[in-house]
Amino acid sequence: MTRAEELAASLGEVQARIAAACAAAGRARDDVLLLAVTKTWPLADVQALRDLGLTDFAENRDQEAADKARALPGVRWHFVGQVQTNKAASVASYADVVQALDRPSLATALSKGAVRAGRRVDVLLQVRLDALDQGEGGGRGGAAPEDVPALAALAASLDGLRLAGVMAVAPLGADPAPAFDRLAEVAARVRADHPGARAVSAGMSGDLEQAVAAGSTIVRVGTALLGRRSPPGR
Ligand SMILES: *Cc1c(COP(=O)(O)O)cnc(C)c1O
Repeated sequence: MTRAEELAASLGEVQARIAAACAAAGRARDDVLLLAVTKTWPLADVQALRDLGLTDFAENRDQEAADKARALPGVRWHFVGQVQTNKAASVASYADVVQALDRPSLATALSKGAVRAGRRVDVLLQVRLDALDQGEGGGRGGAAPEDVPALAALAASLDGLRLAGVMAVAPLGADPAPAFDRLAEVAARVRADHPGARAVSAGMSGDLEQAVAAGSTIVRVGTALLGRRSPPGR
């Protein structure tokens, strides 16, 4: 099998999983976007997936993301990693969607970068779902749920940004369903104040079914499409 055939086969499997999850939840298939997480994989894989019909791709490191986005315009690039404030202007210069907005200082830095680049960047507020994750060091990042309404108001007020919704990573090693339900509650609260902020980014290779059942509109899939990354865990 060529790499392109391999990708076509795994894409077929992932599409079937999403379709089954939508059917089981009584949701329309086109309510859920498949976002391919291509971090660590070569541009040729991104091109192959684009040729197979995918439109949205995600990266989590500034340099790699910048290189790929410049080499492959015409698709939508999402940034899904934690953004250091000093990288915000760079990320805002190429990303169409930043999924990891988790603090006021990052919102203002992204806004400045987007304005300077003459762009408008969609932002998703990353919500911390793990009560034990204090967001420092080894945590998976994200704003505490109680801080989300104020961050949403700030993001909605800033030039160059469009508040598009919320995002979360399920806590490691726990049943993801309660976490995804919690995210759905936070998303509903954001939507009450900002009706355009409809995106809920949740679900990865291992838990996309539970995420779709809880209302996810963007599933972020790496391993199930592209294979195991090395080194693992990135
Ligand atoms: C790497 C990554 C993914 C993809 O995870 P897989 O388990 O490989 O599907 C999804 N979301 C974020 C934020 C990631 O960093």
